[in-house]
Amino acid sequence: MVGFWRQQVDNAHDLRGDDAAHARRRLHASATYLGMVRVDGDLDSETGEALLTALGAVLDAETRSRAGQDDRTSAQRRADALGEICRQWLDRSDRPMIGGERPHVTLTVDAGMLAGRAAGMAELDRTGAVPEEIAKRHLCDASVMRVALSGRSQPMDVGRRTPIVPPAMRRAVIVRDRGCRFPGCDRPHSWCDAHHIVHWADGGPTAVRNLLLLCRRHHRMVHAPGGFRLELLDGRPAFTRPDGSPLEDRAPP
Ligand SMILES: [Zn+2]
Ligand SMILES: [Zn+2]
Repeated sequence: MVGFWRQQVDNAHDLRGDDAAHARRRLHASATYLGMVRVDGDLDSETGEALLTALGAVLDAETRSRAGQDDRTSAQRRADALGEICRQWLDRSDRPMIGGERPHVTLTVDAGMLAGRAAGMAELDRTGAVPEEIAKRHLCDASVMRVALSGRSQPMDVGRRTPIVPPAMRRAVIVRDRGCRFPGCDRPHSWCDAHHIVHWADGGPTAVRNLLLLCRRHHRMVHAPGGFRLELLDGRPAFTRPDGSPLEDRAPP
């Protein structure tokens, strides 16, 4: 009986409180130390439902695509799923222009560091410095703009923003690979970066034979020091585990 009355009171409160609850919606996201971003908030029911549905859809797709063992915790998988949702939105070409261009993740890299000549810096606009291997992963499949500086930080000459992998070449790689080429993974091309097997900064050509589609998770894995390795052997991609044993490649159809 008490339960019944409590439910009636709760129902009445929910109806009256709908506007009040909506007004309490908030989201804080800010960069903290060590390049992390702290997220905290309360979402109204519609936005919350959309978030949970989108996260659920990404997590479901990952569960179906069983590519090796997944040692991430559920919280880590949710964080990765949110990243995937944001990146896919940023990758869409129909987004509004802001300041003459579409919003994108910006990484500033010292040319000397890329050429392996100097211990330069690589910096994300909002979260700060990143290590060289992360910079190189971003640069596998990005648009670059050259900025020449005179002296300390006086821009002298600014080039045009050009994609490293031209759209036509990217389409050819998509037609060949369809999705992530990591053995056992079947994430579609919209989840993938075009990875340079030999990085262009190390003299690798931007050519279809040196490019391979890898989903964000596997792209991160092949760039991680001491992780999975990927090289061209007789013109074919060869994956090896961290212990050096080979992984069977899924030949493109
Ligand atoms: Zn790469
Ligand atoms: Zn993959």
